[in-house]
Amino acid sequence: MKKIGFIGLGNMGGPMASNLLKAQHEVAVYDIVPSLVESISEQGGIACKSAAEVLCGADLVISMLPASQHVESLYLGDEGIMPLIDTSSIVIDCSTISPASSNKVSTAAQALGIAMLDAPVSGGVGGAVAGSLTFIVGGTEADLEKVRPILEIMGNNIFHAGAAGAGQVAKICNNMLLSVLMTGTAEALQLGVNNGLDAKVLSEIMRKSSGGNWALEVYNPYPGVMDNVPAGNDYQGGFLVDLMIKDLGLAMESALATDSSIPLGALARNLYRLHGSKGAGGKDFSSIQQLFTTR
Ligand code: NAD
Repeated sequence: MKKIGFIGLGNMGGPMASNLLKAQHEVAVYDIVPSLVESISEQGGIACKSAAEVLCGADLVISMLPASQHVESLYLGDEGIMPLIDTSSIVIDCSTISPASSNKVSTAAQALGIAMLDAPVSGGVGGAVAGSLTFIVGGTEADLEKVRPILEIMGNNIFHAGAAGAGQVAKICNNMLLSVLMTGTAEALQLGVNNGLDAKVLSEIMRKSSGGNWALEVYNPYPGVMDNVPAGNDYQGGFLVDLMIKDLGLAMESALATDSSIPLGALARNLYRLHGSKGAGGKDFSSIQQLFTTR
């Protein structure tokens, strides 16, 4: 049994902490929202009144926060916990944040002799509940091997992307490509439908042809083509447009920081932003189809 400190018990962190408890680990939890702490303590977690309190005796400290500023503030802010973390603990930040921010925090950890991994996840709330997330990890291989059994409780696929910050870079690249594939698929489907084709027939042709991709395979954005996808349920559930906009913003930041060209990523961000501004922020990201359907 490991002693784990878990900070950030929202849509993702809550179920991740629950799965660690189900696996019989001792989990001390904190969130700025007291009801979320209470909910995990009802499942056997140790309720803490501050982030500093979860550190007490922890072998592992896991954070799952909204964005870069929250992670920087938690670890490096005026009341930041980094100086309070024991050098025998390993810190894993699972939040999706900018690589620059992730590097800033891990550099501070390194300076104090604290091992830190960035481990953003893919798989959404469903994956967090089912314990089937994909972890994309940056940091040393040796540190990853020490925490692998814990990550395997919360996820099915654990990838080592490279040194500190590499997990964030890989996650951002994947989500940028996903946004481009989804937008292109929606655009092609609408062009076919507008020219008299059946969306189901066209989907099958493209799936088996050179345009075949993940969206056509398992996540078709056109309503009525596939069962059990958000497109069949008014785009409810799944991966929210607002989160895709956030990740594409991180891709833009990373591109600027390294003077990289991301013309398609930039266009996808603009299309998703426009779609979000029309009230679609809380819908699944495959709802980008609606941007093409409305004529
Ligand atoms: P969320 O907003 O539901 O949860 C974040 C939690 O952090 C909230 O409960 C908030 O109160 C808490 N928090 C904020 N600042 C804090 C602090 N200083 N101390 C303690 N708690 C604090 O967000 P989420 O959906 O759980 O996402 C978490 C991260 O995972 C994000 O970076 C997101 O981009 C990423 N992610 C989310 C999904 C998804 O489908 N929701 C999928 C993959 C990755």
